[in-house]
Amino acid sequence: MQNKGIFFHQTKYFGTFAAHTFTYDMKPQYIVGLILISGFFQAAAQKTTLPFPRNFEKSYEKGIRNWDGTAGPNYWQNRSDYRINVSLNPKKKLVSGDEEVTYFNNSPDTLKMIRLKLQHDLYKKGGQRAEDLPVADITDGVKISGLQIDGAAVATQAQRRQNTFLDIRLAKPLAPKSSLKLNIAWEFTMPADENATRECICDPSTYFIPYFYPEIAVYDDLHGWASAPYNGLQEFYHDFSNYEVNITVPGGYQVWATGEWQNAAELLQPTYLHRWEKAHTATEVISICSEAEMKSGLVLKKAKKNIFRFKATEVPDFTFAVSDHYNWDATSVIVDDKTGRRTFVSAAYDTKSNDFKRVARIAADGIRLMSTWLPGYPFPYPCLTVFNGNDGMEYPMMINDASVSDDFVTGLTVHETAHTYMPFMMGINEQYYAWMDEGWANFFDHFLADSLEHKSSGIFGAGGFGNDWELPPMVPSRAMDSRSYGFAAYTRPQLAYVQLMDMLGYETFHKCLTTYMDRWKGKHPGPYEFFNTFNMVSGKNLDWYWKPWFFEFGYPDLNLTISKMDNAATGASYVAYIKRVGLLPVPVNLEVEYSDGTKETFYKTAECWKNSDQQVVQIPLEKNKTPVKATLGGKTIPDSRQKDNLWKLP
Ligand SMILES: [Zn+2]
Repeated sequence: MQNKGIFFHQTKYFGTFAAHTFTYDMKPQYIVGLILISGFFQAAAQKTTLPFPRNFEKSYEKGIRNWDGTAGPNYWQNRSDYRINVSLNPKKKLVSGDEEVTYFNNSPDTLKMIRLKLQHDLYKKGGQRAEDLPVADITDGVKISGLQIDGAAVATQAQRRQNTFLDIRLAKPLAPKSSLKLNIAWEFTMPADENATRECICDPSTYFIPYFYPEIAVYDDLHGWASAPYNGLQEFYHDFSNYEVNITVPGGYQVWATGEWQNAAELLQPTYLHRWEKAHTATEVISICSEAEMKSGLVLKKAKKNIFRFKATEVPDFTFAVSDHYNWDATSVIVDDKTGRRTFVSAAYDTKSNDFKRVARIAADGIRLMSTWLPGYPFPYPCLTVFNGNDGMEYPMMINDASVSDDFVTGLTVHETAHTYMPFMMGINEQYYAWMDEGWANFFDHFLADSLEHKSSGIFGAGGFGNDWELPPMVPSRAMDSRSYGFAAYTRPQLAYVQLMDMLGYETFHKCLTTYMDRWKGKHPGPYEFFNTFNMVSGKNLDWYWKPWFFEFGYPDLNLTISKMDNAATGASYVAYIKRVGLLPVPVNLEVEYSDGTKETFYKTAECWKNSDQQVVQIPLEKNKTPVKATLGGKTIPDSRQKDNLWKLP
């Protein structure tokens, strides 16, 4: 999601520094000899020098994960096929459905239970919640009217139901390499509060409906059954599954959802079907229907109820939204130049939301940049809809975004769209390592929004470093409150990735990132798969960088002094001393003004702090010149104490 607190509040200090701009066509800056690389490969293949959780050891010993960052020969993950029928009754705010789930146990373990996630139990009396809810929205949670495993009825009352989980003890344990069928019928009432946690009753006939079906929790090699209940704060972790979903709504309602719409030809009237088809290959934004057209009743097949059919394969969740009056814009964008593959991009919005008139264009242009530049990896999904709701939250192929000001709409749209890569394509466990997706979404939205808007902005919120609530990102996200989470999941990792790209150069960085994606697309990478893939592909052991940025308490703080010191070797009369006072390695960007009015900039990437013994970097200034003023820092270089970054000739 978009971190609202950090996103909407700009700290002052960034405005005072000139931008350091990256040169993206840079050649790899460092050439490492082959002997060095092979020596390092051998060392890294054995172990990591980073702090390492003991409970992960078994996965590496058993060949499930390799020390070089790849999936091991024994890698496994479980999955499901979902066939869901769901209905919305907008008058009663009631969502009801039934589903058949085929669950495949690919693990080497015999499972004695199946854990179901019932996310709407967040609203149940006595539920564990990160934030208070309006009393009117407290309900009995999800009502289950039938549950069968392999055709045999299961008494739900007899099962353990706690927080948002229902644990079903299996009469016959599920053996490795076997599957079971689970049938369940359920219903719940949508929360009416317009600021509901993730759901949106945006107006009486417009709904955004996530987390609506009982979903089997992830069982994996690192943690077993996922055990963090949904409390409204943390996001998710899902298996990659296939979905066939039939959504029944009253006549006159349009549905947008995860996956590809299967029966448009059956439901759309010819004029609108033609526009919908045209938009699939169009480069311009096409209005599929306006509010007036929706209200005319001529867009959809006339019926008391319509069933919309969607299919999605290998996705980590399914979400839908409905309205009887939203405007619908759509276009398409080529995401893979080799194959010509396109993504169909939609924006569905209220007429009052002026910013949304630009959203389909922004999303399509953002997707093009994502596919070709950052991350520079073809956008994986066939379609994406940005829906005008009440949040800033991503779902596979669906986004619930509030209407925002013109200043923020580009950043918000590309942030949520960029989540397609992490956590969805990459299967990140956000309950433990939210920095592995939010940090990237922040990183991508920074560069992509700047590129789309032809500007060079700073990074917001870095003033949070070094406070007692500021925790290293490797602390499991589920153990953090919202303030700690906001910094550890978003700001610190974003800044770490920014300095990392600067240090490696775009080409090497891109190669590392896309190799990580090739290796872990559709799988569940843990933190060491990320660290070790970058180490291996860059040919550098970056543990000296990962450790302070991701594992340790500390903040970025450089200190500048300039002294007169005739240096025989360089001929310089003045030398700048940059001292690393804080723990985090950041680049040195020194701008010097001389007494003759000339200016000079000195730059070193964060790699200048690679040797932990090195606490001072010396920079000889230009020969025979007298500096009068110097500043240290930059808009994307955090520094927790600004006062000692400015020097003036005494
Ligand atoms: Zn996000």
